[in-house]
Amino acid sequence: MKCVVCGLRDAVVMQKHTGRALCRECFISDVISRVEKEIMRFRMFSDSDRLMIAASGGKDSYVLLDIILRLHDPSKIGVVTIVEGIEGYNRLEDVEKVRKLANVNGVDVLVLNLKNYVGYSLTELVNLGFSKNVKISPCTFCGVLRRKAINEIARDLGFTKVLTAHNLDDEVQTIIMNILRGDLFRLVQILPNGPILSKFFVRKVKPLRKIYEEEVAIYAHLIGYEFQTTDCPYLRHFPSLRAKIREYLYKIEKEKPGTLLNLIERIDSLSSMYVNHYVNYPELPRCVMCGEPTAYGRNYCMACELLTALGISNPSYNRNNYLRLAPS
Ligand SMILES: [Zn+2]
Ligand SMILES: [Zn+2]
Repeated sequence: MKCVVCGLRDAVVMQKHTGRALCRECFISDVISRVEKEIMRFRMFSDSDRLMIAASGGKDSYVLLDIILRLHDPSKIGVVTIVEGIEGYNRLEDVEKVRKLANVNGVDVLVLNLKNYVGYSLTELVNLGFSKNVKISPCTFCGVLRRKAINEIARDLGFTKVLTAHNLDDEVQTIIMNILRGDLFRLVQILPNGPILSKFFVRKVKPLRKIYEEEVAIYAHLIGYEFQTTDCPYLRHFPSLRAKIREYLYKIEKEKPGTLLNLIERIDSLSSMYVNHYVNYPELPRCVMCGEPTAYGRNYCMACELLTALGISNPSYNRNNYLRLAPS
């Protein structure tokens, strides 16, 4: 079968939500142009921005880096990755793939070990939690500390935007979770031009937010990314609300392809009507322990609160203790 777009080359991909059979080249350019359109629509960044790509090392961040390298000046791109230190889950091989792609294009990769940042690896924190009977999921620790470190490093180094590799599936799961919680503010915050309530936050944007996870996987495969099926071991043990929603959305999408894309478009239009509502909100207060911003009405940030709950008094954060993997 020939590609329905160019009519020249053989189709190798069936794009489910459009029902189109596409060749390698037309599929890749379709994904890139949709990402570019989303970047322009929300003015996620402009030519003068310095972009810090937060990379987990998985296929999503590899694809994000590949696309951004095609759309932005490489001398204004950096990559940061946080190595959590989870027993039996070695991410260094994944980081190595991202490093190669980055370095070939003259881009630095900064690697920060959680152990060097807070003095404990994620596994050590989780075990500390077990011993103290603290009922906080490993994903919470991991997410909170990673976000904090990435924001601090990007700000220190003068990056003006942080790019994360969340895809359409991730974004819709987050939307459903916020709807279930009845949290309108967080729903509006999901918009790439949503409110930022502290000058200490570097704006985070998700250029892949309209690309299905399956499409990201196909793209990764087509550009030669070799998969390695290592899932975080903590995910299995702590089935979250997110995992249940993911399962459910997957079924709906399978029955009616395009559902997730339609939903996010509708929610985007709806949330856009509320964006201006938050412009005059006051600056967020700062954590009395570490000085970073925290939510209204709070004295401590999530990170300081979580670490204190584990019995780590006066937590300190060493964000300068990272490794710089530069092009040779
Ligand atoms: Zn084609
Ligand atoms: Zn704090």
